[in-house]
Amino acid sequence: AGLADGLTRGIEEFGDRVSGAFFEPVVRLGVTGLARAGKTVFITSLIANLLDRARMPGLLAEGEGRILAAYLQPQPDVTLPRFDYETHLAALTGPAPHWPESTRAVSELRLSLRVRPGGFLSGMTGPRVVHLDIVDYPGEWLLDLALLDKSYNQWCEEVLARIQARPQAAAYLEAARATDAAAPLEEAVAQRLAQGFTTYLNAARDAGFYDCTPGRFLLPGDLAGSPVVTFAPLPADGAPPRKSLRAEMARRYEAYKREVVRPFFRDHFARIDRQVVLVDALDAIHKGPRAVEDMRGAMADILGAFRPGRNAFLTQLLMGRRVEKILFAATKADHLHHTQHVRLTAIMEALLRAARDRADFAGAETRAMAIAALRATVEDRMNHQGRDLDCVRGRLLDTGRQAAFHPGALPEDPARLLAAARGGAEAWPDGEYRAMRFAPSVLNLRPGEGPPHIRLDRAAQFLIGDRL
Ligand code: GDP
Repeated sequence: AGLADGLTRGIEEFGDRVSGAFFEPVVRLGVTGLARAGKTVFITSLIANLLDRARMPGLLAEGEGRILAAYLQPQPDVTLPRFDYETHLAALTGPAPHWPESTRAVSELRLSLRVRPGGFLSGMTGPRVVHLDIVDYPGEWLLDLALLDKSYNQWCEEVLARIQARPQAAAYLEAARATDAAAPLEEAVAQRLAQGFTTYLNAARDAGFYDCTPGRFLLPGDLAGSPVVTFAPLPADGAPPRKSLRAEMARRYEAYKREVVRPFFRDHFARIDRQVVLVDALDAIHKGPRAVEDMRGAMADILGAFRPGRNAFLTQLLMGRRVEKILFAATKADHLHHTQHVRLTAIMEALLRAARDRADFAGAETRAMAIAALRATVEDRMNHQGRDLDCVRGRLLDTGRQAAFHPGALPEDPARLLAAARGGAEAWPDGEYRAMRFAPSVLNLRPGEGPPHIRLDRAAQFLIGDRL
Protein backbone atom coordinates (compact mmCIF):
# COMPACT_ATOMS: atom_id res chain seq x y z
CA ALA A 1 0.00 0.00 0.00
CA GLY A 2 2.90 2.25 0.86
CA LEU A 3 4.26 2.04 -2.63
CA ALA A 4 0.86 2.59 -4.24
CA ASP A 5 0.27 5.63 -2.02
CA GLY A 6 3.64 6.95 -2.94
CA LEU A 7 2.87 6.46 -6.63
CA THR A 8 -0.49 8.20 -6.54
CA ARG A 9 0.99 11.05 -4.61
CA GLY A 10 3.76 11.23 -7.14
CA ILE A 11 1.25 11.42 -9.93
CA GLU A 12 -0.76 14.06 -8.12
CA GLU A 13 2.30 16.15 -7.54
CA PHE A 14 3.32 15.75 -11.12
CA GLY A 15 -0.19 16.70 -12.19
CA ASP A 16 -0.05 19.79 -9.99
CA ARG A 17 3.21 20.87 -11.43
CA VAL A 18 2.02 20.38 -14.98
CA SER A 19 -1.18 22.30 -14.46
CA GLY A 20 0.71 24.94 -12.49
CA ALA A 21 3.29 25.42 -15.17
CA PHE A 22 1.26 25.10 -18.33
CA PHE A 23 -2.42 25.63 -17.74
CA GLU A 24 -2.64 28.03 -14.86
CA PRO A 25 -0.91 31.23 -15.83
CA VAL A 26 0.65 33.34 -13.11
CA VAL A 27 0.73 37.12 -13.24
CA ARG A 28 3.15 38.72 -10.83
CA LEU A 29 1.95 42.18 -9.98
CA GLY A 30 4.45 44.46 -8.26
CA VAL A 31 3.03 47.23 -6.08
CA THR A 32 5.43 49.95 -5.11
CA GLY A 33 5.69 53.63 -4.22
CA LEU A 34 7.51 55.64 -1.63
CA ALA A 35 6.55 55.45 2.02
CA ARG A 36 2.96 56.52 2.72
CA ALA A 37 2.06 56.56 -0.96
CA GLY A 38 -0.74 54.11 -0.18
CA LYS A 39 0.58 50.62 -1.04
CA THR A 40 -0.94 48.82 1.93
CA VAL A 41 -4.36 50.40 1.47
CA PHE A 42 -4.21 49.76 -2.29
CA ILE A 43 -3.40 46.07 -1.99
CA THR A 44 -5.94 45.50 0.78
CA SER A 45 -8.73 47.17 -1.15
CA LEU A 46 -7.74 45.55 -4.44
CA ILE A 47 -7.89 42.08 -2.92
CA ALA A 48 -11.17 42.79 -1.10
CA ASN A 49 -12.66 44.13 -4.33
CA LEU A 50 -11.46 41.15 -6.34
CA LEU A 51 -12.96 38.76 -3.81
CA ASP A 52 -16.25 40.71 -3.68
CA ARG A 53 -16.64 42.29 -7.07
CA ALA A 54 -19.83 44.35 -6.94
CA ARG A 55 -17.77 47.54 -7.28
CA MET A 56 -15.56 46.31 -10.12
CA PRO A 57 -17.58 46.82 -13.33
CA GLY A 58 -14.58 48.47 -15.00
CA LEU A 59 -12.70 45.19 -14.87
CA LEU A 60 -13.88 43.81 -18.18
CA ALA A 61 -13.91 40.13 -17.26
CA GLU A 62 -16.14 41.02 -14.30
CA GLY A 63 -18.33 43.31 -16.39
CA GLU A 64 -18.82 40.40 -18.80
CA GLY A 65 -19.65 38.05 -15.93
CA ARG A 66 -16.70 35.78 -16.69
CA ILE A 67 -15.09 35.71 -13.24
CA LEU A 68 -16.65 32.67 -11.60
CA ALA A 69 -14.71 32.66 -8.35
CA ALA A 70 -11.88 34.36 -6.53
CA TYR A 71 -10.03 32.98 -3.55
CA LEU A 72 -6.81 33.41 -1.59
CA GLN A 73 -4.21 30.69 -1.71
CA PRO A 74 -0.89 29.98 -0.07
CA GLN A 75 1.73 31.93 -1.99
CA PRO A 76 4.46 30.05 -3.86
CA ASP A 77 7.39 31.85 -2.17
CA VAL A 78 7.37 30.14 1.17
CA THR A 79 10.13 32.19 2.79
CA LEU A 80 8.60 35.58 2.05
CA PRO A 81 6.34 37.28 4.60
CA ARG A 82 2.69 37.01 3.61
CA PHE A 83 0.91 40.32 3.02
CA ASP A 84 -1.18 40.65 6.16
CA TYR A 85 -4.44 41.08 4.31
CA GLU A 86 -6.84 40.03 7.05
CA THR A 87 -5.39 42.38 9.67
CA HIS A 88 -5.29 45.31 7.24
CA LEU A 89 -8.84 44.66 6.06
CA ALA A 90 -10.08 44.44 9.65
CA ALA A 91 -8.43 47.82 10.35
CA LEU A 92 -10.16 49.43 7.38
CA THR A 93 -13.58 47.83 7.60
CA GLY A 94 -14.04 47.07 11.31
CA PRO A 95 -16.46 48.90 13.60
CA ALA A 96 -13.79 51.51 14.52
CA PRO A 97 -12.02 51.91 11.17
CA HIS A 98 -8.44 53.13 11.10
CA TRP A 99 -5.61 53.16 8.57
CA PRO A 100 -3.50 50.01 8.63
CA GLU A 101 0.23 49.75 9.32
CA SER A 102 2.27 50.81 6.31
CA THR A 103 4.61 48.73 4.18
CA ARG A 104 8.05 48.26 5.72
CA ALA A 105 9.46 45.40 3.66
CA VAL A 106 8.62 42.94 0.90
CA SER A 107 5.53 40.79 1.27
CA GLU A 108 3.41 38.70 -1.02
CA LEU A 109 -0.05 37.23 -1.45
CA ARG A 110 -1.62 34.94 -4.05
CA LEU A 111 -5.15 35.49 -5.23
CA SER A 112 -6.56 33.03 -7.72
CA LEU A 113 -9.35 33.77 -10.14
CA ARG A 114 -11.45 31.17 -11.92
CA VAL A 115 -12.34 32.72 -15.23
CA ARG A 116 -14.42 31.71 -18.23
CA PRO A 117 -12.45 32.65 -21.34
CA GLY A 118 -13.83 35.49 -23.42
CA GLY A 119 -13.71 36.16 -27.15
CA PHE A 120 -13.43 33.37 -29.70
CA LEU A 121 -12.24 30.87 -27.09
CA SER A 122 -15.37 31.21 -25.00
CA GLY A 123 -17.30 28.34 -26.54
CA MET A 124 -14.32 26.02 -26.92
CA THR A 125 -12.66 25.74 -23.53
CA GLY A 126 -13.86 25.51 -19.98
CA PRO A 127 -12.99 27.88 -17.12
CA ARG A 128 -9.35 28.20 -16.17
CA VAL A 129 -7.51 29.52 -13.17
CA VAL A 130 -5.28 32.58 -13.29
CA HIS A 131 -3.05 33.22 -10.29
CA LEU A 132 -2.32 36.77 -9.31
CA ASP A 133 0.79 37.04 -7.14
CA ILE A 134 0.82 40.49 -5.59
CA VAL A 135 4.25 41.62 -4.42
CA ASP A 136 4.42 44.66 -2.15
CA TYR A 137 7.79 46.40 -1.85
CA PRO A 138 9.06 49.84 -0.82
CA GLY A 139 9.85 52.21 -3.69
CA GLU A 140 12.87 53.37 -1.70
CA TRP A 141 14.44 49.98 -2.39
CA LEU A 142 13.85 50.35 -6.11
CA LEU A 143 15.72 53.65 -6.24
CA ASP A 144 18.78 51.85 -4.87
CA LEU A 145 19.34 50.53 -8.39
CA ALA A 146 21.20 53.76 -9.17
CA LEU A 147 23.82 52.85 -6.56
CA LEU A 148 24.92 49.78 -8.51
CA ASP A 149 26.53 51.96 -11.17
CA LYS A 150 28.45 54.06 -8.68
CA SER A 151 31.59 53.57 -6.67
CA TYR A 152 31.67 54.84 -3.11
CA ASN A 153 33.67 57.88 -4.22
CA GLN A 154 31.24 58.77 -6.99
CA TRP A 155 28.31 58.32 -4.66
CA CYS A 156 29.86 60.57 -2.00
CA GLU A 157 30.62 63.28 -4.50
CA GLU A 158 27.11 63.25 -5.97
CA VAL A 159 25.25 63.07 -2.70
CA LEU A 160 27.29 65.77 -0.99
CA ALA A 161 26.90 68.12 -3.95
CA ARG A 162 23.16 67.50 -4.09
CA ILE A 163 22.45 68.07 -0.42
CA GLN A 164 24.87 70.97 0.03
CA ALA A 165 22.22 73.66 0.10
CA ARG A 166 19.50 71.74 1.93
CA PRO A 167 18.79 73.02 5.43
CA GLN A 168 17.85 69.49 6.53
CA ALA A 169 21.43 68.40 5.77
CA ALA A 170 23.25 71.15 7.65
CA ALA A 171 23.92 69.16 10.81
CA TYR A 172 25.11 66.09 8.94
CA LEU A 173 27.37 68.08 6.60
CA GLU A 174 28.92 69.81 9.59
CA ALA A 175 29.60 66.46 11.28
CA ALA A 176 31.05 64.99 8.08
CA ARG A 177 33.38 67.97 7.62
CA ALA A 178 34.57 67.72 11.21
CA THR A 179 35.45 64.04 10.78
CA ASP A 180 38.94 62.83 9.91
CA ALA A 181 38.07 60.19 7.33
CA ALA A 182 41.70 59.02 7.12
CA ALA A 183 41.86 58.20 10.84
CA PRO A 184 41.58 54.53 11.85
CA LEU A 185 38.01 53.26 12.00
CA GLU A 186 36.19 53.77 15.27
CA GLU A 187 32.84 52.06 15.25
CA ALA A 188 31.23 54.76 17.40
CA VAL A 189 32.18 57.41 14.83
CA ALA A 190 30.81 55.33 11.95
CA GLN A 191 27.57 54.83 13.85
CA ARG A 192 27.20 58.52 14.67
CA LEU A 193 27.71 59.46 11.03
CA ALA A 194 25.28 56.83 9.77
CA GLN A 195 22.69 57.96 12.29
CA GLY A 196 23.22 61.59 11.33
CA PHE A 197 22.80 60.74 7.67
CA THR A 198 19.65 58.71 8.38
CA THR A 199 18.20 61.61 10.35
CA TYR A 200 18.87 63.84 7.36
CA LEU A 201 17.22 61.34 4.97
CA ASN A 202 14.08 61.21 7.10
CA ALA A 203 13.88 65.00 7.36
CA ALA A 204 14.46 65.37 3.63
CA ARG A 205 11.75 62.91 2.82
CA ASP A 206 9.28 64.65 5.12
CA ALA A 207 10.10 67.89 3.33
CA GLY A 208 9.19 66.30 0.00
CA PHE A 209 12.56 65.18 -1.38
CA TYR A 210 12.46 61.81 -3.08
CA ASP A 211 16.13 61.14 -3.67
CA CYS A 212 16.53 59.41 -0.33
CA THR A 213 18.78 56.44 -0.98
CA PRO A 214 20.17 54.15 0.38
CA GLY A 215 16.61 52.89 0.73
CA ARG A 216 17.37 50.57 3.64
CA PHE A 217 18.43 53.54 5.77
CA LEU A 218 14.79 54.58 5.89
CA LEU A 219 13.29 51.08 5.98
CA PRO A 220 16.02 48.78 7.28
CA GLY A 221 13.79 45.87 8.32
CA ASP A 222 15.91 43.23 9.99
CA LEU A 223 19.12 44.92 8.80
CA ALA A 224 18.73 47.68 11.42
CA GLY A 225 22.00 48.20 13.27
CA SER A 226 24.05 45.96 10.97
CA PRO A 227 27.27 47.16 9.32
CA VAL A 228 25.72 47.21 5.82
CA VAL A 229 23.56 50.13 6.89
CA THR A 230 26.25 51.81 8.99
CA PHE A 231 28.01 53.99 6.46
CA ALA A 232 27.59 57.53 5.18
CA PRO A 233 28.97 59.83 2.46
CA LEU A 234 32.25 61.55 3.35
CA PRO A 235 34.15 64.24 1.42
CA ALA A 236 36.78 62.57 -0.77
CA ASP A 237 40.49 63.27 -0.49
CA GLY A 238 42.62 60.80 -2.40
CA ALA A 239 42.94 57.08 -1.73
CA PRO A 240 42.04 56.28 1.89
CA PRO A 241 44.63 54.50 4.06
CA ARG A 242 43.87 50.87 4.84
CA LYS A 243 41.65 50.33 7.88
CA SER A 244 40.70 53.99 7.91
CA LEU A 245 37.14 55.16 8.50
CA ARG A 246 36.79 56.03 4.84
CA ALA A 247 38.13 52.66 3.64
CA GLU A 248 35.67 50.86 5.91
CA MET A 249 32.78 53.04 4.73
CA ALA A 250 33.65 52.20 1.13
CA ARG A 251 33.76 48.51 2.02
CA ARG A 252 30.32 48.67 3.65
CA TYR A 253 28.89 50.60 0.73
CA GLU A 254 30.06 47.84 -1.62
CA ALA A 255 28.64 45.22 0.75
CA TYR A 256 25.31 47.07 0.73
CA LYS A 257 25.23 46.86 -3.05
CA ARG A 258 26.24 43.22 -3.11
CA GLU A 259 24.32 41.82 -0.15
CA VAL A 260 21.24 44.01 -0.11
CA VAL A 261 20.54 45.70 -3.44
CA ARG A 262 21.43 42.88 -5.82
CA PRO A 263 19.53 40.15 -3.97
CA PHE A 264 16.44 42.34 -3.88
CA PHE A 265 16.54 42.83 -7.64
CA ARG A 266 17.31 39.19 -8.26
CA ASP A 267 14.70 37.68 -5.94
CA HIS A 268 11.83 40.10 -6.35
CA PHE A 269 12.16 42.73 -9.00
CA ALA A 270 13.36 40.49 -11.83
CA ARG A 271 10.23 38.32 -11.66
CA ILE A 272 7.59 41.03 -11.96
CA ASP A 273 5.26 41.06 -15.00
CA ARG A 274 3.11 44.08 -14.24
CA GLN A 275 3.84 47.03 -12.02
CA VAL A 276 1.83 49.73 -10.32
CA VAL A 277 3.72 52.71 -8.90
CA LEU A 278 1.65 54.69 -6.43
CA VAL A 279 2.47 58.36 -5.94
CA ASP A 280 1.05 60.81 -3.48
CA ALA A 281 0.85 63.57 -6.08
CA LEU A 282 -1.58 65.63 -4.02
CA ASP A 283 0.87 65.75 -1.16
CA ALA A 284 3.65 66.89 -3.50
CA ILE A 285 1.43 69.54 -5.07
CA HIS A 286 0.54 70.73 -1.61
CA LYS A 287 4.21 70.96 -0.65
CA GLY A 288 4.95 73.09 -3.68
CA PRO A 289 6.86 73.29 -6.96
CA ARG A 290 10.11 71.85 -5.63
CA ALA A 291 8.43 68.72 -4.30
CA VAL A 292 6.66 68.20 -7.63
CA GLU A 293 9.91 68.60 -9.55
CA ASP A 294 11.50 66.13 -7.22
CA MET A 295 8.65 63.69 -7.64
CA ARG A 296 9.07 63.88 -11.41
CA GLY A 297 12.74 63.03 -10.92
CA ALA A 298 11.80 60.04 -8.77
CA MET A 299 9.31 58.87 -11.39
CA ALA A 300 12.04 59.05 -14.04
CA ASP A 301 14.40 57.08 -11.80
CA ILE A 302 11.74 54.47 -11.13
CA LEU A 303 10.94 54.18 -14.84
CA GLY A 304 14.67 53.96 -15.49
CA ALA A 305 14.81 50.82 -13.38
CA PHE A 306 12.31 49.23 -15.79
CA ARG A 307 14.12 50.29 -18.94
CA PRO A 308 15.58 47.33 -20.77
CA GLY A 309 19.35 47.55 -20.94
CA ARG A 310 19.47 50.12 -18.18
CA ASN A 311 22.14 48.32 -16.25
CA ALA A 312 24.46 45.42 -17.08
CA PHE A 313 23.64 43.53 -13.92
CA LEU A 314 19.90 43.83 -14.49
CA THR A 315 20.11 42.96 -18.17
CA GLN A 316 21.85 39.74 -17.32
CA LEU A 317 19.37 39.00 -14.59
CA LEU A 318 16.30 39.60 -16.72
CA MET A 319 17.48 37.52 -19.67
CA GLY A 320 15.15 39.30 -22.05
CA ARG A 321 12.15 39.26 -19.74
CA ARG A 322 10.52 42.55 -19.11
CA VAL A 323 7.70 44.23 -17.32
CA GLU A 324 4.84 44.59 -19.78
CA LYS A 325 2.78 47.33 -18.19
CA ILE A 326 3.48 50.06 -15.70
CA LEU A 327 0.75 52.13 -14.12
CA PHE A 328 1.54 55.38 -12.32
CA ALA A 329 -1.42 56.06 -10.09
CA ALA A 330 -1.97 59.22 -8.07
CA THR A 331 -3.59 57.94 -4.91
CA LYS A 332 -6.06 59.50 -2.47
CA ALA A 333 -8.14 61.15 -5.19
CA ASP A 334 -11.04 61.05 -2.73
CA HIS A 335 -9.54 64.26 -1.26
CA LEU A 336 -10.89 65.98 -4.35
CA HIS A 337 -14.35 66.52 -5.72
CA HIS A 338 -14.64 64.52 -8.94
CA THR A 339 -14.74 67.73 -10.98
CA GLN A 340 -11.04 68.10 -10.09
CA HIS A 341 -10.06 64.56 -11.07
CA VAL A 342 -9.52 65.54 -14.69
CA ARG A 343 -6.87 67.99 -13.58
CA LEU A 344 -5.14 65.51 -11.34
CA THR A 345 -5.07 63.00 -14.18
CA ALA A 346 -3.72 65.63 -16.58
CA ILE A 347 -0.97 66.50 -14.10
CA MET A 348 -0.06 62.82 -13.72
CA GLU A 349 0.02 62.36 -17.48
CA ALA A 350 2.28 65.37 -17.91
CA LEU A 351 4.58 64.13 -15.17
CA LEU A 352 4.71 60.70 -16.74
CA ARG A 353 5.52 62.13 -20.16
CA ALA A 354 8.31 64.20 -18.68
CA ALA A 355 9.61 61.21 -16.74
CA ARG A 356 9.52 59.01 -19.85
CA ASP A 357 11.50 61.61 -21.77
CA ARG A 358 14.05 61.98 -19.06
CA ALA A 359 14.48 58.24 -18.56
CA ASP A 360 14.52 57.81 -22.35
CA PHE A 361 12.01 55.08 -21.73
CA ALA A 362 10.66 52.60 -24.22
CA GLY A 363 9.36 49.11 -23.75
CA ALA A 364 6.51 48.63 -21.35
CA GLU A 365 3.12 50.18 -21.90
CA THR A 366 2.67 53.01 -19.39
CA ARG A 367 -0.42 54.79 -18.13
CA ALA A 368 -1.23 57.51 -15.60
CA MET A 369 -4.41 57.63 -13.53
CA ALA A 370 -5.97 59.23 -10.47
CA ILE A 371 -7.48 56.73 -8.05
CA ALA A 372 -8.51 56.23 -4.46
CA ALA A 373 -8.02 52.74 -3.13
CA LEU A 374 -10.35 53.45 -0.25
CA ARG A 375 -12.82 56.26 -0.51
CA ALA A 376 -12.92 58.04 2.85
CA THR A 377 -15.08 60.97 1.80
CA VAL A 378 -18.41 61.79 0.18
CA GLU A 379 -19.05 64.70 -2.16
CA ASP A 380 -20.94 67.74 -1.04
CA ARG A 381 -21.61 71.39 -1.84
CA MET A 382 -21.04 74.19 0.55
CA ASN A 383 -21.75 77.84 0.50
CA HIS A 384 -18.73 80.00 1.12
CA GLN A 385 -19.17 83.77 1.14
CA GLY A 386 -22.19 83.58 -1.11
CA ARG A 387 -20.55 81.16 -3.55
CA ASP A 388 -21.39 77.49 -4.01
CA LEU A 389 -18.31 75.32 -3.77
CA ASP A 390 -17.89 71.66 -4.67
CA CYS A 391 -16.27 69.96 -1.74
CA VAL A 392 -15.71 66.63 0.00
CA ARG A 393 -16.86 65.67 3.46
CA GLY A 394 -15.31 63.16 5.83
CA ARG A 395 -14.04 62.47 9.33
CA LEU A 396 -10.83 64.36 10.04
CA LEU A 397 -7.94 62.20 11.13
CA ASP A 398 -6.65 64.40 13.94
CA THR A 399 -9.90 65.50 15.59
CA GLY A 400 -12.23 62.70 14.54
CA ARG A 401 -14.85 65.31 13.64
CA GLN A 402 -16.88 65.42 10.44
CA ALA A 403 -15.88 68.29 8.21
CA ALA A 404 -16.61 69.56 4.73
CA PHE A 405 -13.45 70.53 2.95
CA HIS A 406 -12.68 72.48 -0.18
CA PRO A 407 -9.02 71.93 -0.96
CA GLY A 408 -8.84 74.75 -3.49
CA ALA A 409 -8.42 74.22 -7.19
CA LEU A 410 -5.56 72.25 -8.63
CA PRO A 411 -3.49 74.19 -11.13
CA GLU A 412 -5.30 73.94 -14.43
CA ASP A 413 -2.46 73.79 -16.89
CA PRO A 414 -0.05 70.91 -16.23
CA ALA A 415 2.52 72.42 -18.60
CA ARG A 416 2.63 75.61 -16.57
CA LEU A 417 2.75 73.59 -13.40
CA LEU A 418 5.74 71.62 -14.63
CA ALA A 419 7.47 74.75 -15.88
CA ALA A 420 7.03 76.36 -12.48
CA ALA A 421 8.34 73.21 -10.84
CA ARG A 422 11.37 73.07 -13.12
CA GLY A 423 12.04 76.75 -12.66
CA GLY A 424 12.14 76.28 -8.91
CA ALA A 425 9.25 78.69 -8.35
CA GLU A 426 8.26 79.33 -4.75
CA ALA A 427 4.53 79.10 -5.37
CA TRP A 428 2.17 77.85 -8.01
CA PRO A 429 1.21 80.16 -10.87
CA ASP A 430 -2.50 79.58 -10.37
CA GLY A 431 -4.53 77.90 -7.71
CA GLU A 432 -3.72 77.11 -4.15
CA TYR A 433 -4.19 73.55 -3.05
CA ARG A 434 -4.52 72.70 0.61
CA ALA A 435 -4.19 69.26 2.11
CA MET A 436 -6.20 67.48 4.75
CA ARG A 437 -6.11 63.98 6.14
CA PHE A 438 -9.27 61.97 6.54
CA ALA A 439 -9.91 58.86 8.57
CA PRO A 440 -11.62 55.90 6.93
CA SER A 441 -15.34 56.01 7.57
CA VAL A 442 -17.56 53.29 8.98
CA LEU A 443 -18.70 51.02 6.16
CA ASN A 444 -21.89 49.06 5.90
CA LEU A 445 -20.92 46.68 3.13
CA ARG A 446 -23.61 44.54 1.57
CA PRO A 447 -22.78 40.93 0.68
CA GLY A 448 -20.67 40.80 -2.44
CA GLU A 449 -19.51 44.38 -2.02
CA GLY A 450 -15.88 45.37 -1.50
CA PRO A 451 -14.87 48.68 0.11
CA PRO A 452 -15.70 51.86 -1.85
CA HIS A 453 -12.95 53.15 -4.12
CA ILE A 454 -12.35 55.42 -7.09
CA ARG A 455 -11.28 53.80 -10.37
CA LEU A 456 -9.62 50.82 -8.71
CA ASP A 457 -11.46 48.66 -11.26
CA ARG A 458 -9.95 50.64 -14.14
CA ALA A 459 -6.52 50.31 -12.61
CA ALA A 460 -7.04 46.55 -12.34
CA GLN A 461 -8.26 46.42 -15.94
CA PHE A 462 -5.11 48.12 -17.19
CA LEU A 463 -2.85 45.93 -15.06
CA ILE A 464 -4.33 42.46 -15.47
CA GLY A 465 -7.47 42.74 -17.61
CA ASP A 466 -5.83 41.33 -20.73
CA ARG A 467 -4.80 38.18 -18.86
CA LEU A 468 -8.33 37.31 -17.70
P1 GDP B 1 2.37 52.71 2.27
O1 GDP B 1 3.44 53.28 3.14
O2 GDP B 1 2.68 52.94 0.83
O3 GDP B 1 2.02 51.28 2.58
O4 GDP B 1 1.07 53.62 2.54
P2 GDP B 1 -0.32 53.22 3.23
O5 GDP B 1 -1.11 52.31 2.38
O6 GDP B 1 -0.07 52.79 4.63
O7 GDP B 1 -1.03 54.64 3.22
C1 GDP B 1 -0.47 55.75 3.91
C2 GDP B 1 -1.57 56.69 4.36
O8 GDP B 1 -2.16 57.33 3.23
C3 GDP B 1 -2.73 56.00 5.05
O9 GDP B 1 -2.47 55.84 6.42
C4 GDP B 1 -3.86 56.98 4.80
O10 GDP B 1 -3.79 58.07 5.70
C5 GDP B 1 -3.55 57.51 3.42
N1 GDP B 1 -4.26 56.80 2.34
C6 GDP B 1 -3.86 55.73 1.62
N2 GDP B 1 -4.75 55.39 0.67
C7 GDP B 1 -5.77 56.28 0.78
C8 GDP B 1 -6.99 56.49 0.06
O11 GDP B 1 -7.36 55.78 -0.90
N3 GDP B 1 -7.77 57.54 0.46
C9 GDP B 1 -7.42 58.37 1.50
N4 GDP B 1 -8.23 59.38 1.82
N5 GDP B 1 -6.26 58.21 2.17
C10 GDP B 1 -5.45 57.19 1.83
